[in-house]
Amino acid sequence: MSAIASEISKRRTFAIISHPDAGKTTITEQMLLFGGVVREAGTVKGKKSGNFAKSDWMEIEQKRGISVTSSVLQFDYDGKRINILDTPGHEDFSEDTYRTLMAVDSAVMVVDSAKGIEPQTKKLFEIVKQRGIPVFTFFNKLDRDGRDPLDLLAELEDVLGIDTYPMNWPIGSGQVLQGLYDMHNHQVALYRPDSQGNRYLALDENGNIDANHELANNQIWRDARDEVDLVSDAGNQFDEEAILHGKLSPVFFGSALINFGVETFLKSYLEYAPAPAAKKTIDEQAIEPLNNDFSGFVFKIQANMNPQHRDRIAFVRIVSGEFKRGMDVTLSRTAKKIRLSNVTQFMADSRENVESAVPGDIIGVYDTGTFQIGDTIFSGKAKIQFEDLPTFTPELFMRVSAKNVMKQKSFHKGITQLVQEGTIQLYKSWVSGDYILGAVGALQFEVFKFRMENEYNSEIVLEPMGHKIARWINTEQLDEKMASSRNILVKDRFDQPLFLFENQFAERWFKDKYPSVELEAKL
Ligand code: GDP
Repeated sequence: MSAIASEISKRRTFAIISHPDAGKTTITEQMLLFGGVVREAGTVKGKKSGNFAKSDWMEIEQKRGISVTSSVLQFDYDGKRINILDTPGHEDFSEDTYRTLMAVDSAVMVVDSAKGIEPQTKKLFEIVKQRGIPVFTFFNKLDRDGRDPLDLLAELEDVLGIDTYPMNWPIGSGQVLQGLYDMHNHQVALYRPDSQGNRYLALDENGNIDANHELANNQIWRDARDEVDLVSDAGNQFDEEAILHGKLSPVFFGSALINFGVETFLKSYLEYAPAPAAKKTIDEQAIEPLNNDFSGFVFKIQANMNPQHRDRIAFVRIVSGEFKRGMDVTLSRTAKKIRLSNVTQFMADSRENVESAVPGDIIGVYDTGTFQIGDTIFSGKAKIQFEDLPTFTPELFMRVSAKNVMKQKSFHKGITQLVQEGTIQLYKSWVSGDYILGAVGALQFEVFKFRMENEYNSEIVLEPMGHKIARWINTEQLDEKMASSRNILVKDRFDQPLFLFENQFAERWFKDKYPSVELEAKL
């Protein structure tokens, strides 16, 4: 194997998807403890600090002079180099969060065992599912009384529409947690060492522990043992192909906080998660990681919130070839040549230049307005243009106008550029042409307002319209009379018509009234 092939085969690039408070930060921190941190980004929160509130976010940006929301964490473990891409939750949630999932090769889903699948996990999972990438599930907080594990599996299958395969099974939980029945490694991992000091118990060929062991007479063990029989008889088979195609999720139980089951999880994850894969171009060609020429795509652009550092960073996922600092690449969209000399990975409180990187890695390229979301860059002679990144259906809408009518020019310039950059989505009222902004997370409006004022010197007025359900409609089927105050007719930036429905009732009412009209939701 060539040196670069060996480097690529070591890469595991993934995101952790979860609902806020499920334990994403805690499990990330545990993983970091197992590995040596190579580069640490700003988002791993201090244990006590809790989650960043919106105000903290701006403040932290200012204090550090870097973008804390833009994080990639890189560390080595078990001979692998791991890149974890952050998908922020809470108010930080934005289209960036979705787009980040376009740059990973697999996903880890952390679920709170007491709560089951929560809305944010479901939203993020839809994209993972659509891409058909492998997803591994970690049911967290086993040190607390959670829901019945069989129930949790059933919910995962029903709500997310994916098959599951338990890799281990809890023996009790909360106060009576005894350990994990590890089907995959054919052993029992004890939560507390037994009276002989053993941490692990061997299983015989029937999957039983020594009948004389102190645990064997425990009802909790017998119950767990019955459940294990049940799931292995009635459940899915372990199928590596199905895992790699995102059709079967290996499921693990454990507790991030007490660090129980996390290391086994990480080991198994690294064993089955794929190394960086090829990516398709718009003309259906697959660009393999081992291609000699460098190529990559921009999945996120982060503007610096600190007026002292007006630069932006374009995040590039490397698809093929090797990145070397100072190399020349072509920007596919404009055919312009660019020298990649100022390229970074983020550290908690400094910026570090990167000399080289390989497929699977993420590099941050300093940008002075050259890049757009979805851009391809490549080093060879043959033009490479990757498939467009999808746009995501916004859920929150606000009318926007310039505070000062005399300043229309900077208002339009700012909006055009920020929309192109992917900060927010722009719609126009079908009849009046009024501007309406759409976002998946409220923070996008805040960032938009801040940047309009600071970068374009344009004060704006935002008028909340609340949650809406956006549904596109075929131009041929459109009749302007279908619009009402409960389904506002607007056009997107490609002039395609869509309705913004007030709620599900309004949408259902519309469907009943116009059964032949097709309504389309984007991702
Ligand atoms: P995030 O919002 O998903 O990043 O969640 P955090 O990692 O910040 O965890 C949210 C809260 O749950 C914190 O108070 C953690 O200490 C707690 N927590 C995380 N993992 C566990 C666990 O395994 N057991 C228990 N009991 N608490 C946990």
